[in-house]
Amino acid sequence: MIFLNKYYSLYIHIPWCLKKCPYCDFFSKNFIKKNKKLQFQYINSLLLDLDQTLSFLKKKIYIKSIFFGGGTPSLICTKYISFLLKEIKKRVYILELAEITIEINPTSISEKKIIDYINIGINRFSIGIQSFNNKNLKILGRLHSSEIAINAINILKKNNVRNFNLDIIYGIPGQSLNESYQDLCKIISFKPNHISWYQLTIEKNTIFYKKKPRNLLSNDFLWKIFLQGKKFFSKNKYFQYEISSFVKNNKYQCIHNLNYWYFGNYLGIGCSAHSKITLSNNKIIRITKNNNIKQYMNRNFISSIRRLSHKDIIFEFFLNRFRLYKKIYKQEFFYFTGIKIIKIIPLINKSIKSGYLKEDNNFWYITNKGYLYLNDLLEIFI
Ligand code: SF4
Repeated sequence: MIFLNKYYSLYIHIPWCLKKCPYCDFFSKNFIKKNKKLQFQYINSLLLDLDQTLSFLKKKIYIKSIFFGGGTPSLICTKYISFLLKEIKKRVYILELAEITIEINPTSISEKKIIDYINIGINRFSIGIQSFNNKNLKILGRLHSSEIAINAINILKKNNVRNFNLDIIYGIPGQSLNESYQDLCKIISFKPNHISWYQLTIEKNTIFYKKKPRNLLSNDFLWKIFLQGKKFFSKNKYFQYEISSFVKNNKYQCIHNLNYWYFGNYLGIGCSAHSKITLSNNKIIRITKNNNIKQYMNRNFISSIRRLSHKDIIFEFFLNRFRLYKKIYKQEFFYFTGIKIIKIIPLINKSIKSGYLKEDNNFWYITNKGYLYLNDLLEIFI
C-alpha cells in the first residue's frame, strides 16, 4: 500500500524563450511576441492534456504544488496564467497551503506582472540570474545584464515577496575562483531565502555540445570552486538540503522539488513534460508528452507511456533520494515504491561494505565518501 501518494505535484511546461541559451537542454522554441492567439491555444491544449492525464487516475487528486517552468513562463500573458489556474482548480483539489511557483526571466518581468502574479495566487518565484558578471552572462548567451537581474530581484523585494529562489551557475568557461566568489557575495546581499547553485554541465542537444566553448574548466578547478562555495554558504548560514539547493530557513525548502527527490507522484503537462503516476493497482507509470508544439496543439499530447519495472523503480528512487542531505527513513522506501525492503538488502549491504552508506535500525545515512563518489554509489543501484 503506497499511502503517501495521495498528494501530487503539477508541472506546467511553457515551451518558448526569447532566445535559446547555448548551455540549455530544456525544451524551448523561439517566442513570437505578437502571437497571442497561439498562446491562448496552447493554454487550452494544456487543459485538454490535463484532462487526459487525469483520466489515468480513478479519483480527483490533491495537489500540493504547481510549478510553471520552461522555457520562459513569464513571457505568457498573465491573464492566460490566471485562466489556467482557475480551470485547474475545477479539475483537482489544490491544498490551501499549496506552493505555486513561476520561473521568471529577468528580461520579461515588470512590477505590474509581479503584482498580478501575487493577486492570482502565485506564492513563489524563481529567477534565472545565473551570474552578476556581465562578461560571464554573455558567455552563457543570456540576454540580461547584471543591472537587469538586480532590478528583477528588487521588484520582488519591494513587493515583500519572501519566498523566492535565485538560480546561479558556477563553472562558466574561463570563470575564476574570485568571479565565482563575487557572484555568491552579491547573491546573498539580497538575502534570498532559497538559492539554487548549479554547476554548468555540457549536455547533449545543446549548442555548447555541438561547438565546445573555449576555456572549459578542469574537474580539479571545478572542485576548488565547489569547496569554496560550500564553505561560503555554511559561513553565511545557508543550509544545504540538496546537492544544488540552499536555504536560509528550512520552511523555504522547495515543496515541488522535494516531491521529485522523495520519488513522489507528479503530473506534467505541456510539450516534453513527464508524469509519474501510481495507478490504483500500485503499478507506476511514466508518461512523456510530445515535444512537437504543432502536434501537441493538434491534441497528440502523449509521446510514450512506460510502466516502470522494479529495477527502474529502485534505481529512480535512489537516484532522486540520494540528492537530499537527509538521512533516509527505511520505511520511506516501501511507502514510495511499494517494493519490500528485503529486495534491496544485497544492494544496501554492498553500499555499506564500500563505505558509501551507514545504517542503524531505522535509517540509512550517506557517508562523506558516499557524497564524494555519488555516481559510484548509484551504480550499485542500476
Ligand atoms: S532562458 Fe532558460 S529555458 Fe530559455 S533557453 Fe535560456 S536557460 Fe533555457
